[in-house]
Amino acid sequence: MNKRHIAILGSTGSIGTQALDVISQHPDLFEVELLTANNNSSLLIEQALKFKPNAVVICNKELYSTVFEALDKEDIKVFAGIESANELVKGSNIDIVLAAMVGFSGLEPTINAVKSGKVIALANKETLVAAGSIITKLAKEHNSPILPVDSEHSAIFQCLQGESAQIEKLLLTASGGPFLNTDIQSIMNATRHQALKHPNWSMGAKVTIDSASMMNKGLEMIEASWLFNMEPDKIEIVVHPQSIVHSLVQFTDGSLKAQLGAPDMRVPIQYALSYPHRIALDTKRISLPELGQLTFSAPDRKKFPAIDLAYSAHRQGGNMACIMNGANEVAVAALLEEKILFGKIPHIIEKTMQKCSFIAEPSISDIFETDACAKAIAREFI
Ligand code: MG
Repeated sequence: MNKRHIAILGSTGSIGTQALDVISQHPDLFEVELLTANNNSSLLIEQALKFKPNAVVICNKELYSTVFEALDKEDIKVFAGIESANELVKGSNIDIVLAAMVGFSGLEPTINAVKSGKVIALANKETLVAAGSIITKLAKEHNSPILPVDSEHSAIFQCLQGESAQIEKLLLTASGGPFLNTDIQSIMNATRHQALKHPNWSMGAKVTIDSASMMNKGLEMIEASWLFNMEPDKIEIVVHPQSIVHSLVQFTDGSLKAQLGAPDMRVPIQYALSYPHRIALDTKRISLPELGQLTFSAPDRKKFPAIDLAYSAHRQGGNMACIMNGANEVAVAALLEEKILFGKIPHIIEKTMQKCSFIAEPSISDIFETDACAKAIAREFI
């Protein structure tokens, strides 16, 4: 495979740092062109010194001089502000854009990358949740392939290689998060600390809280629906606490194909960066006899109302999933700041979905307005 030139949006986060770990194992195959970070200037500087990108962007402008001075002696251009990331992502030196920013903030740079026909390695699921119809249409127009980085979607994507047959159903596996076996009352009163204890995956705070509420699986259902052009009714969520089967595809002959492996985000990150090639990785090998058994069950929709909120939002279409996503971001931030208890999250989302104006066919500017409006309404409920 030819050497690939990569931009990482959100390089200091969980996905960004693991992507750089993958890249450092294959210096002959990957070259870092652009790194962007919101606030973590010290890690951005460290990464820039190690990977020598063409440019870095620190989105928080107050940190510009810190980064600029630290990289003064290097041949690395330093920029500040999200608008710089939006511009640089279009650069002709870039082949693949890894969209690994957190939440709705990843939408604008991803749209710009799509419009310049880049290969998008998409880790930022909120992008498709908030603006799936717009992004998928733009991606077609600009011949910009969207390759999933989310482990479930990568699993489905891997299962679909070499298949031209019709898909009957997608099965998204879910670990069930830290509250799988917790009673409903204790879930309602859970704190930030309890919700942040994910049993299997090491991830950023936002997605860890989303896993605890199972909103993560709701967002992923919507993401899968856009990525694989499937109706929500043909996407089933299956709880699988061991996180070994990363998801499955059911074909019209009744066959199920699954992708299995140790829970390690570097596998789906690397697959998106090396696709269609599969290259070596030092991840843990699983032993099926040691595991002994893999278990599956249906999710408890009463304990985890976020699942039905997501199905309902996606079935309504228009800007409703964007409303849900905006409200969820506000509610999760409020939990992380210890302003609310865990049980309030779905309540805030539901109320916001009822109150925010519905738009059946939103434009890009409608989506940005919807996000702002949903967030403002959600803050009223905190
Ligand atoms: Mg996932």
